[in-house]
This record gives sequence, structure tokens and C-alpha cells, in this order.
Amino acid sequence: MAMVSTYLTPTTTPKSSAASPPLFSGLRRSTATTTTQTFLHSHTRLSSSSNRTSRGIVAMAGSGKFFVGGNWKCNGTKDSIKQLVSDLNSATLEPDVDVVVGPPFVYIDQVKNSLTDRIEIAAQNSWIGKGGAFTGEISAEQLKDIGCKWVILGHSERRHVLKENDEFIGKKAAYALSQGLGVIACIGELLEEREAGKTFEVCFNQLKAYADAVPSWDNIVIAYEPVWAIGTGKVASPEQAQEVHVAVRDWLAKNVSAEVASKTRIIYGGSVNAGNSADLAKKEDIDGFLVGGASLKGSDFATIINSVTAKKVAA
Ligand code: PEP
Repeated sequence: MAMVSTYLTPTTTPKSSAASPPLFSGLRRSTATTTTQTFLHSHTRLSSSSNRTSRGIVAMAGSGKFFVGGNWKCNGTKDSIKQLVSDLNSATLEPDVDVVVGPPFVYIDQVKNSLTDRIEIAAQNSWIGKGGAFTGEISAEQLKDIGCKWVILGHSERRHVLKENDEFIGKKAAYALSQGLGVIACIGELLEEREAGKTFEVCFNQLKAYADAVPSWDNIVIAYEPVWAIGTGKVASPEQAQEVHVAVRDWLAKNVSAEVASKTRIIYGGSVNAGNSADLAKKEDIDGFLVGGASLKGSDFATIINSVTAKKVAA
């Protein structure tokens, strides 16, 4: 079969202090895959259209609400978090968006006790099973106990710095779900994997590890976060993100079910900021964002949340 490659180049938003971004040739895929994706794409549009009126958002392939998570990572002090919470409490947020923030473990209680109920709380990790003699770990039961609704799992920093593998992450997701937490399940390729044309392969393997472990996708939001875009200021173009989101939805349809493909929210993460979120949000398969750096500024995070309006206008 003839293989025709599609090359997409990155959109670069350099930080003043950042070194020149590495060059890469982008994502390659075969025409066969493209055809399948196009078919599935129109299929999911049809299947999600019945939900559109009730949701008030039409340019959205997933049938859930727009979802925006803030991953505060290992940042903040009691004082800075107090200020951030105060800024979030006073921000005007569009109503039809699920909003979640992920403080460092040690500040979850402070945030839970001071943040508006409008915003839910995620942990940034959880242990693979029931708590016990696991020094330094935090169990899903404990996260529930202090009021967390969500946990971020499979983040690239845990995969690549802490060396967590696909299977381990899948099991963590299953355990967190079993304890009633929602899971923000991260996937995404390294720069060299993208350059080698392996973006889909990597993302699908990561998805498969979740699929093999979890009994249901009801409480899972998938976060596609290309590693080369995280914390680099080098956001994926809306087209690059949309292309992978469609492929992820296609994978879900083929390997899980059409219903899960239609219902599951697929959010994008990687250098999303107040200036680029609206253009990304306009893409039909981008159902929200996972935001790192920009979630530490209340007003910027609010702007990103409110980029849901760009979706409505685009519709
Ligand atoms: C993240 O860590 O999930 C992330 C997307 O970070 P940033 O927005 O800073 O790139």
C-alpha cells in the first residue's frame, strides 16, 4: 500500500529565556489511517449531535462538558496558594465548563477549605493500590477522604522523570477509579518519537494500557499532552492537536466502543496559555485543556476556562 506522509510543523511561542526549539519534521501517517479517521470523525459528529442542544456547545465532538484542569505541579507556598485561590474565587467563569485544579498534596487541604465549590480538586498522583507500608505514597482512599474528586495519572513527568511505565499507570488508574476518583489519564509522545513518525503508536500503546486495566471509561478524561510541548512554550498548533485527538477518538471507537469514543472528553495539554487557548478550543475534538504554568495565574487560568466561548462562536 502506498504510504503518503502528512507533515505538520510545530507552532512556536518562544519564552524569552528559552533556547531555540529543536527542529522536527512532525507527524507522519498513512493515507489508510487518514481515511479511517475521516470516516470516524464524521461518525462521531453524528453521534454527538443529539447532545448538542442540551449542552449549548455545538462544535465539540465529545459529548461531555468542556473540561479544564490546572496542574500546579510542585509549585507554591501557603501564601502564594492563598493568593491564587483568592483570584480563582473572584474570577467570573463560564458555567458550562468542568474546572479542576491539582495542588501539591501538602496544600490540598488548604485549597479544599478555601476554594469555591465551583472548582473541584485533583491530586497529581496516587498509589497503585490500597495504602499501607509504602513510604512517601498517598492512597486513593486518602485522596477521597480529603475531598479530591480527581487524580492526574500518567503525566509525562511521572513517565519520564519517575520512570513509571504504561502498565503501572494503567493499574493506578484502575485502582483510583475503583475508589471513586475520576482519572485524568495523560498520554503523549516525546519529540524523538514524533520525529520518528511514532506519535500514534506511542499514544495508542499508552491508551491500550489504560484500556487493558480499567473496567469502564465513565470517569476518565484523556489528556493528550505531547511531551515536547509541556513547559516549553512550544504549543502544538490547533491542527496538530486536533489530528491526534481525532486519532485517539478513532482508537477508542475501534478498541473500546463507539459510545465511549463519543462520550469521552479528550483535552489538550502543553504550553496552553491565555493567548492561544481560544484557537485551540475552536477545534472540534479538543474538549478542554490540562494547563501547567498558566494555571498558576488566576486571571490567565480563567481566560483559558472561558475559551469555551470560542467553541460556541465557532459552531
Ligand atoms: C502539564 O504539565 O500538564 C502542562 C501542560 O504544562 P504546561 O502547560 O506548563 O506546558
